[in-house]
Amino acid sequence: MYSMSQFPLQFSEKDLMPYMSAETLNCHHGKHLATYIKNLNDLITGTPYADMPLYEIIKQSATDTNAQKIFNNAAQVFNHDFFFRCLTPNGGGDVPTELANAFGGADKFISEFRTAAAGVFGSGWAWVVRENSEIKIMTTKNADTPLAHGITPLMTLDVWEHAYYLDYQNRRADFIDAYLNHLVNWNFVLENMAQ
Ligand code: MN
Repeated sequence: MYSMSQFPLQFSEKDLMPYMSAETLNCHHGKHLATYIKNLNDLITGTPYADMPLYEIIKQSATDTNAQKIFNNAAQVFNHDFFFRCLTPNGGGDVPTELANAFGGADKFISEFRTAAAGVFGSGWAWVVRENSEIKIMTTKNADTPLAHGITPLMTLDVWEHAYYLDYQNRRADFIDAYLNHLVNWNFVLENMAQ
């Protein structure tokens, strides 16, 4: 069984203002993530998934046609926890050299990430990932996650409307810029790159 105490915010709900409101975090972390956890618990009870680590649930349910709902909820628990760890007060700004170098420069990285995140049609996620030894950008739809494809996530942005609608309404591009300029936790991204 999973619980919210395993997935705490690393800061308080008001700490990302004005770039992400306390209302958004209260709803996104406190309600959306909580619902994915509750749904996952309800779905795995009494199944072989009940005692698996989250990563195993995601990996195995991804190829189990009878476990689509389990996959969706497990992946969303992982994706959201990873996303909230990608946020920090006073984040964003200068792209770390190690990351910039992987894309031929900071400007190229920013441009490629913005285009990818803006280009997700409907609900989904923009990621920086490492596949084999290559660092690159990818997007996933709905609950899909790089983990399900054996790809290592390094950084993510939730571009489901619930991630930004209270603060930015339909202006997803402004949300993407706020993330890159003021919110992303480069230290977390660097830690992931170093592993
Ligand atoms: Mn979300």
